[in-house]
Amino acid sequence: MHAVDLIRKKRDGQRLSRSELEFLITGYVRGEIPDYQMAAWNMAVYFKGMEPEEITDLTLIMAQSGDMLDLSAIQGTKVDKHSTGGVGDTTTLIVAPLVASLGIPVAKMSGRGLGHTGGTVDKLESIPGFKVTLSPEEFVQQVNAIGLSLVGQTGQLAPADKLLYALRDVTATVESIPLIASSIMSKKIAAGADGFVLDVKVGSGAFMKSEEDAIALARTMVQIGTLAKRQTVALVTDMNQPLGRGIGNALEVKEAILTLRGEGPQRLTELCIELSVEMLLLAGVTNDRSEARKRLEQSLVEKKALRKFSELIAAQGGDPRVLEDLSLLPQARYTRDIHAPSTGYVQSVDPMVIGVSAMELGAGRENKDTIIDLAVGIELQTEVSGHVREGQVLATLYANDDRKLEQASVNALKAFQIGDARPAARPTIYRKITAKEL
Ligand code: URA
Ligand code: CA
Repeated sequence: MHAVDLIRKKRDGQRLSRSELEFLITGYVRGEIPDYQMAAWNMAVYFKGMEPEEITDLTLIMAQSGDMLDLSAIQGTKVDKHSTGGVGDTTTLIVAPLVASLGIPVAKMSGRGLGHTGGTVDKLESIPGFKVTLSPEEFVQQVNAIGLSLVGQTGQLAPADKLLYALRDVTATVESIPLIASSIMSKKIAAGADGFVLDVKVGSGAFMKSEEDAIALARTMVQIGTLAKRQTVALVTDMNQPLGRGIGNALEVKEAILTLRGEGPQRLTELCIELSVEMLLLAGVTNDRSEARKRLEQSLVEKKALRKFSELIAAQGGDPRVLEDLSLLPQARYTRDIHAPSTGYVQSVDPMVIGVSAMELGAGRENKDTIIDLAVGIELQTEVSGHVREGQVLATLYANDDRKLEQASVNALKAFQIGDARPAARPTIYRKITAKEL
C-alpha cells in the first residue's frame, strides 16, 4: 500500500477500507507517513467527506491507537456525557453527581479549558485539595465504592487524534464534520463507557455556528456511536448566550453548588435535567421519561445529588465544607460591576465576548501553556430578554490584576445589546438526535 494512492482515492471521492485507514493512521502515528501526505488526505476528506461506516472505522482505529480504558470491573451500564464546549457550561459538575445519586455509575474523564471555553478538570481544581489524577485502579475502585469519579485524562488516550488535531489546526482542516466527529468519538470510546449522551452546542459561542452544521455533527456522532455498538443520543443546545451565570473556574463551581441546592439559573438547571434524563434512559434504569425526570428533580429537592457531590469531593481529597461555605473557594482580590448604558430589554449577550473577556482576566488559556487563575471571571446579573434600567448592574467581574480588570470591563460591556423590543427567549434545547431517526 502507498499513502499517495489512498490520498488519490479520497481525492476522487471513494471510500477507504478499514485496512487502508489502518495503514494511514498507524503509519502516521509511527512517523512513517509524513505530515504533508496526512495533510493532503485530511484536505481530501474536507472536500469529499466520508461514509458512516468509513468514519466509524477511522474512529475505532484512532481510539485503538493508545490506551483503551477497561471499565468492566464497574457493575452496571456506564454512560458518559460530552459537551462540544461552550461558555458558562458547567453541566458536568451537576449532571455527574445528579445521575450518580440515583445509583448509575459515573466514571468520567474530562479535559482542561482552552480559549474561550472552560474545562471540568480546571474547575474541580478550584476546590481546595481536590485531586484530579487517580491511577486507573483508584478510579475504578472509587466508582465501585461511591458510584462516581471525575478525573483528568490518564494514560495515552487516542494519541492519533492528538497528532491529527495538531496537523488539522495548521492546515485549515479542523472544520470537517467527519474529522471532528471521529476526533471526539475516538476519545470517548477510548475512555471506556457503554453509552454516550452528547451535548452539541450551536451558536455564536460554539464550534458549530449554524443549526444545520450542529445537526449534521450530532447525527454523525450518533451514527458512529451506534455502529460502534455504544448507545448514543445527542441534544443540540443553544450557545448564543452563556448557559449559566458564572464564567470562570471557581465561579462555575459555585454555580454548580447552587444548582445542586436547587438555586441555579433556570436554563442551566433545565439542560442538566434533560441531559440526566437521557443518561438514565440509556442506562436502562427506566424507560419512562417523565418518571426519570421526577426522580432527578426529587434528588435535587432532597439534596441527594448535593450529598453525592460531597462524597466525591471527600473521596478525591477535597474539602467538602465548600458546599456550605462558598468563601472557601479561591477568591479574587478585586471586583467591578459593569452597568447598563440605557434602559430596555437585553437583546443579546455574546458568549464569545464574555468568554474571551473571562480569558483575559486569567480564567482561560490562550494557549496550552497559559497558567490560569482559578478565582477570576465574570458573573452575569441578567440574561437575554431580561429588562434592565440605565445604570443597573449587568455583570460583575472578578480579577486579581487591576489592569486586566480595566481592560476586561471595557470589553465585556460590548457583549450586551440593549433595545426597546422584548426579544423572544430562545429555547435551551433545539433538538434531540437518536439512532432511530437517522
Ligand atoms: N473537538 C475535538 O475534540 N476535536 C475536533 O476535531 C474538534 C473539536
Ligand atoms: Ca468542556
